[in-house]
Amino acid sequence: MSRTAPVPASEVRVWDGEADVVVAGNGSAGASAAIEAARAGADVLVLDAAGGWGGASAMSGGEIYLGGGTPLQKACGVTDSPEAMFRFLQLATGPGADDEKLSVYCEHSVEHYDWLVGCGVPFVGELWTEPSWEAPTGYGLMYTGGENAAPFVDLVPPAPRGHIVHMEDKKPGERSAGWELMNHLVRTAADAGAAVRYDTRVERLIVDDGVVVGVEAVTAGQPVRLRARRGVVLASGGFGADTAMLEQHSPRLAGNWLVGTDGDDGRGIRMAQAVGAAVRHMDAGQVAFPADPALVFRSILLDARGRRFVTEDTYPGRIGQTALFRQDRQVFVLFDETADEELRSKTGVPPRPTWVSDDLPELAALMGVPADVLTQTVETYNAHAARGEDPLFGKSARWLRPLRPPYGVVDLRKIPYGIFTLGGLHTSVRGEVLDSGGDPIPGLFAAGRVTNGIPAWGYCSGTSLGDATFFGRRAGRAAGSGTAGTG
Ligand SMILES: Cc1cc2nc3c(=O)[nH]c(=O)nc-3n(C[C@H](O)[C@H](O)[C@H](O)COP(=O)(O)OP(=O)(O)OC[C@H]3O[C@@H](n4cnc5c(N)ncnc54)[C@H](O)[C@@H]3O)c2cc1C
Repeated sequence: MSRTAPVPASEVRVWDGEADVVVAGNGSAGASAAIEAARAGADVLVLDAAGGWGGASAMSGGEIYLGGGTPLQKACGVTDSPEAMFRFLQLATGPGADDEKLSVYCEHSVEHYDWLVGCGVPFVGELWTEPSWEAPTGYGLMYTGGENAAPFVDLVPPAPRGHIVHMEDKKPGERSAGWELMNHLVRTAADAGAAVRYDTRVERLIVDDGVVVGVEAVTAGQPVRLRARRGVVLASGGFGADTAMLEQHSPRLAGNWLVGTDGDDGRGIRMAQAVGAAVRHMDAGQVAFPADPALVFRSILLDARGRRFVTEDTYPGRIGQTALFRQDRQVFVLFDETADEELRSKTGVPPRPTWVSDDLPELAALMGVPADVLTQTVETYNAHAARGEDPLFGKSARWLRPLRPPYGVVDLRKIPYGIFTLGGLHTSVRGEVLDSGGDPIPGLFAAGRVTNGIPAWGYCSGTSLGDATFFGRRAGRAAGSGTAGTG
């Protein structure tokens, strides 16, 4: 692996190019930064290691976490406020949420919606209330964080805030709305005057007396040194593709399936650390639970002893984090024929049980859990469900129904989870990269998954694109209007 130590500016004899602002990465954070830097009057150069734009952002479902009373929320008859959004995110994205970031994010969320619309990003459609990761075309808003499930539903007035970029003919999981989002952002950046170079990997920062004044990149196998007169914005994604970094910072995330691209190699984080940047929550990750939410809501989830461990009708990423970090993936889904039939009619995709039996002790033996524990778990759940109650976990009455034999069990113990990292560079609300003393590193800015942002430890779908675009804009604006490196 090549070095990440900074290059002293005194070693640079000839600059191979220059701009006011150099942005590393042309995903949602980088494109948003480029737009605002260019609009602040800067001459902007975006570099991307890949052969084209988009990164993980273009592969994504295009769900953006926005609220506080957006026009789409109002059109769907949803009441929301910045205060409710702040309180919910503080609970759901913690522990260790950054209150200052949350506060500006929630306060300016409606304005950010308008900014995205101004870039041509389309939001239309109705509220989708079925349990799923994504909504079909025609639905523009959904719950994406467990707002309407225990424990949050009893603590904060719930509101759906997952705003889904509209895209015709999308096929969830194959061709999703993230592409549509990115198409508008990169076009807007180009219209604002930002230039782009692909197949150009930023490898090291160039520093002059503590100020970041440029980058060393590699293109066509050759190193190039590019001067950034006002600042460098790192927008190069997370570190889920770097096994050594995963094993060092968050070993439970290692060995899973990366929801991202090869570009998520953590190099941006390491380059910035090499000039003194602080990091936050490097153990945190988004963890997609590997079972269809439409099945999970209708089932019970069991741990390695045959006990329930979570409310099944919450955000599946929350279940994923609980199952991976607290249960070490030793979990099962138990459902019945009614759930099977409902799933077939609602989704057309039937569950695939590992075992089927009328007899709980027989299932317990197959699962390797104590028979009396499994039997008691199902009997207790059923007795409460018959009264529309779940005193143990607070599952909503909409999903409570006694489970009847024959039962199906899906064994998830060896199934990898879809993950991406949430930990990263510590940044200010202006997008400045901070050192371990909390001071900005002159000339260095960052946004997106190279940073730790709104999803500090906990995650809600849409907070990654939301945070990347929102703080990407701020980083671009701060860099574009800055003076670092001009001296
Ligand atoms: C299938 C899928 C579905 C998802 N759905 C959602 C969703 O609906 N909502 C949501 O909020 N999030 C979603 N996510 C997560 C989200 O897409 C990402 O976390 C987010 O897009 C990260 O944005 P970014 O700009 O930080 O990074 P990226 O979009 O990955 O962009 C980083 C760019 O930097 C480039 N790069 C990397 N290293 C270098 C380097 N050294 N030099 C130059 N360039 C470099 C990469 O090539 C890439 O183009 C999803 C992800 C996937 C894969």
